[in-house]
Amino acid sequence: MGLMKRVVIKVGSHVITENGSIAKSRMLALVQLIAELKTHHYEVILISSGAVSAGYTQLPLNRSVVANKQALAAIGQPYLLKMYQEKFARFNLLCSQVLLSADVFKFKEHVEHAKNAIDTLLENNVVPIINENDTVSIEELVFGDNDRLSAHVAHYFDASLLVILSDIDAFYDKDPNKYDDAKRRAVVHTIEEDELKAEHTPNNEFATGGIVTKLQSADFLMREGREMFLASGFDLGDVSTFLIDGTHKGGTLFKA
Ligand code: ADP
Repeated sequence: MGLMKRVVIKVGSHVITENGSIAKSRMLALVQLIAELKTHHYEVILISSGAVSAGYTQLPLNRSVVANKQALAAIGQPYLLKMYQEKFARFNLLCSQVLLSADVFKFKEHVEHAKNAIDTLLENNVVPIINENDTVSIEELVFGDNDRLSAHVAHYFDASLLVILSDIDAFYDKDPNKYDDAKRRAVVHTIEEDELKAEHTPNNEFATGGIVTKLQSADFLMREGREMFLASGFDLGDVSTFLIDGTHKGGTLFKA
């Protein structure tokens, strides 16, 4: 058990949804990867977006209204978890739902209690699936995206690595969706101050983070002596190669 490596895997809304509903085959591929990682001495905590989109497929409320988004999250979260449960069951694995609010991380005791629960789930071979409790969170307290929530989860629940599975396959020297000559950065050791303040660039209406929140997360984790790996959530080849074979082909490793 001492050889277990704890990783947090965060999957963004762009990856887990498609045309407004849950991307079932991508979800299955992700669950299969997690099942495989668990046979390779990894403890895996999953952070999944998709609750609002899952809710929207059941009841199309106008999502530009905050209360509607909260309602959609309430409708969609159990629906999302049911889908995960069915997929994990194919690999004889149990999963579980952990809803956190941002303020959990402000209080040492809250963090300790939450960590005890997470540790217990992992000891019992259960996959914790974490999401922000969007229905009760007060807006200013909300992280606004799961990138920063994931970084907090990785740090406070003592994971050595955060894996962010995105619609982009790596961090580039400029936005690859705008510039054809953008070059992938394989390893990043430090992040410049101005990169942390750049405008948010969410790629679609479901995404809220963009690259900036990913850089902020990487910066936070590197300062805490942890690592972050950014790779494609559409093709899990790079993350699988990195985690299982120990070979870094695609993706970006943030490591101080
Ligand atoms: P997700 O929802 O998958 O977590 P986002 O869509 O919010 O991710 O953020 C990733 C997007 O950030 C990319 O699709 C890309 O257009 C944009 N982006 C801007 N600058 C960069 C950069 N330097 N490297 C990679 N992606 C970038």
